Amino acid sequence: IIEFRDVEKRFGDNVVLKDLNFHVNKGERVTLIGPSGSGKTTILRLVMTLEEATDGMILIDGDPLTHRIEGGKRVRLSNKEIKKTRTRIGMVFQQFNLFPNMTVIQNITESPIHVLGQSKDEARAKAKDLLHKVGLDDKADAHPSSLSGGQQQRVAIARALAMDPEILLLDEVTSALDPEIVDEVLGILRNIADTTDITMLIVTHEMQFARDVSDRVLMFDGGAIVEDADPHTMFTAPTHDRTKKFLRAVL
Ligand code: ATP
Repeated sequence: IIEFRDVEKRFGDNVVLKDLNFHVNKGERVTLIGPSGSGKTTILRLVMTLEEATDGMILIDGDPLTHRIEGGKRVRLSNKEIKKTRTRIGMVFQQFNLFPNMTVIQNITESPIHVLGQSKDEARAKAKDLLHKVGLDDKADAHPSSLSGGQQQRVAIARALAMDPEILLLDEVTSALDPEIVDEVLGILRNIADTTDITMLIVTHEMQFARDVSDRVLMFDGGAIVEDADPHTMFTAPTHDRTKKFLRAVL
């Protein structure tokens, strides 16, 4: 469902990703691990179209995400085309990124109403269901600033799910949380992984979580894939020295 084809991403002279090729199958949960600066977050931001590749192509279900090749040339799609694909993808960020001036339920219903064209009633009913799912039934009318970090992140998860995404991107979603709250958020994500068939692309430093939910783990270094393996192999018998060194440092 996600395919990177010879993707390059540079910021000025800094080549962050070079000739990157990989794919994620429908329903698969793939975790990206690797040292700081290896390009993991950039990959998620490319899929979310918050950044655009400087070369190559990203395909979603075979459809180009931001650029296609036409007569041998790389051509950018229209903003309208890009937006259409983007609605199929949800993302949860490290820093929650909730709208501070809106209540919890407004945060969750904003895009379903304005992007998907749902009625207010329909969007609210769905939002209430999702708030129940993330254990925040009583917080619908609260403002984000009155919530703890863990609660805000649960709202952000509900907001992403309200769009019924085919693909969910999780970018270090527990890194900004107090250690005792991390498990509560990971528990909710585990539950989503167990009860839906949403394709997930995950960047996390929580190796136990990566091990539990992933079908496949990709080890990155310097913007390239060093190792691509199932979690059991990756965490118990990695092949590459670079992976062994990284895992020794983080496990
Ligand atoms: P971490 O685990 O620390 O989040 P990462 O593997 O997710 O690291 P990225 O955040 O993708 O790494 O960053 C990869 C490289 O891209 C870094 O060298 C970073 O400085 C650079 N980079 C990322 N975003 C930008 C930007 N908007 N402008 C310039 N450089 C950027």
